[in-house]
Amino acid sequence: MSGNEQKYIQEAFDSNWIAPLGANVDAFEKEIATYVGASDAIAVSSGTAAIHLALSLLGVSRGDQVFCSTLTFVASANPILYLGAEPVFIDSEPDTWNMSPQALERALGDAAREQRLPKAVIVVHLYGQSAKMDEILTLCNRYEVPVIEDSAESLGSTYKGKASGTLGKFGIYSFNGNKIITTSGGGMLVSNDLQAIQQARFLATQARDQAHHYQHSQLGYNYRMSNILAGVGRAQLEVLNERIASRRKVFDTYLLEFSTLQEVEFMPELLNTMSNRWLTALTINDHSLSTSSEILEVMRQRNIEARPVWKPLHLQPLYNRAKYYPHKEKDHVAERLFRSGICLPSGSNLLENDQLYIIDCFKKALRMKEPVREMV
Ligand SMILES: *Cc1c(COP(=O)(O)O)cnc(C)c1O
Repeated sequence: MSGNEQKYIQEAFDSNWIAPLGANVDAFEKEIATYVGASDAIAVSSGTAAIHLALSLLGVSRGDQVFCSTLTFVASANPILYLGAEPVFIDSEPDTWNMSPQALERALGDAAREQRLPKAVIVVHLYGQSAKMDEILTLCNRYEVPVIEDSAESLGSTYKGKASGTLGKFGIYSFNGNKIITTSGGGMLVSNDLQAIQQARFLATQARDQAHHYQHSQLGYNYRMSNILAGVGRAQLEVLNERIASRRKVFDTYLLEFSTLQEVEFMPELLNTMSNRWLTALTINDHSLSTSSEILEVMRQRNIEARPVWKPLHLQPLYNRAKYYPHKEKDHVAERLFRSGICLPSGSNLLENDQLYIIDCFKKALRMKEPVREMV
């Protein structure tokens, strides 16, 4: 927490707006919209709820196809299933680790030939790194398919000067406990389409018709953010830029310390983009004596919480029947990143000494054949 959260929470209590609406919710929406430069925003109970709303607004329903990045957290795609639609997973490309325009082009071509164009494409900006949005938007515009940016991990990142989440039809952010700023749980849907956000507000509050009696013509959800949590969000947003600076500094320290190691390759930062470096991610190559899972095990034994890269969704048992388009026929990028990738501890409050300890353990782990159990 930043310190100012209690002030906004107190305002909610003082005004007695302990509800999924109130002054903090209104202000938090305006402040996020202003920060990212979107016309409007709606605060919701989670990033997942925001994706669900975006898909609903685009009319996704049973039998429709929705394309989605494969290298991501499961929440990116689950709302496709909530709506009875079919996900088609698109591989990553090596420059950003995000959606491959080549794979997307083949997938859209096939879908056009089958006269089954997707109702939406969900593009994820992994660990804060922007996908190749120009290429992706050009393709999607050609086929008139709307883009939803899953910017759950990339709040504050920019692509050619524009905020992540504001390039597509809809952008979503998450304020889950693990994200760069948090409300413990929460999310935001942003768009430049004011009517769409108005419709999202309607759907997120049980789709209640304009009538004094309780009348409903459409299926809605109960997805609004609490006025207390929006207070937490307002204080968190005030320190977002500091958080980004801290995370980028954490990354720069790893980069410097590992610059002479031939065993590791960092997640790149695309030219003309700025990543919030939510997590420092890297891959281990063939020069290493240890595999990424062996390294993770060594780190775990030393009480260091490093993590593997997300398991691609097309490899998940839940999605084993879904269609999937690799980057190239013989180049499955997300699978390669999953097998060799590691996310290092990257907290905004990571202490310098703790990071040096992590760096030391990581370097030792790289050069061990077997994880040593009795390390102190
Ligand atoms: C965290 C996350 C989500 C889901 O956000 P919640 O607020 O936890 O529902 C969606 N997509 C990605 C890529 C995420 O990292």
